[in-house]
Amino acid sequence: MTFDDGPDSVYTGKILDILERNKIKATFFIIGKKALENPELVKRIISKGHEIGNHSYSHKSLIFKSTAYVQKEIEKTDKILGNLGVKGDICFCPPYGRMDAIARMVFRKLHKKVILWDNNPKDFKRSSSDEIVNKVLKKLKPGSIIVLHDGGGDRTETIEAVEILIPELLKRGYNFKKVLELFS
Ligand SMILES: [Zn+2]
Repeated sequence: MTFDDGPDSVYTGKILDILERNKIKATFFIIGKKALENPELVKRIISKGHEIGNHSYSHKSLIFKSTAYVQKEIEKTDKILGNLGVKGDICFCPPYGRMDAIARMVFRKLHKKVILWDNNPKDFKRSSSDEIVNKVLKKLKPGSIIVLHDGGGDRTETIEAVEILIPELLKRGYNFKKVLELFS
């Protein structure tokens, strides 16, 4: 389970509480600019044993951008995350999942592991929590990477959906891994 676009002062803490209550670990793809705004939340995510990924500095699409632009978006955020205590390899998820040949070249140059989801209930459209849950369950298979959002707007329905989803998935026999564990 991955959470994009945070850390958010309202919703990230709520997600962390639900994860802790259910004793599961997740991956947070963090926007560099927001990490600077909410450094304590980044530290809290780390202290709870979750994984942190890089979701660019400014969350602008990387399509039709220069090599230098893409590289800066990634490196600036890696540096911020490193300064806040993130250790080891930091994987990358491009904003909106979009990338072109130039972006791919930069990923290779920086040896960035790029993560995309295969299960996207589009919670950012603010459909009901039931709808979010049903969309996830419909597409779910072993190894799925589910993308949800803890930032970027009102996430009330996402919080409700996560509250329902995690126990339901556990009941169905799924376990939860941090994203890079899926590739190790
Ligand atoms: Zn995003």
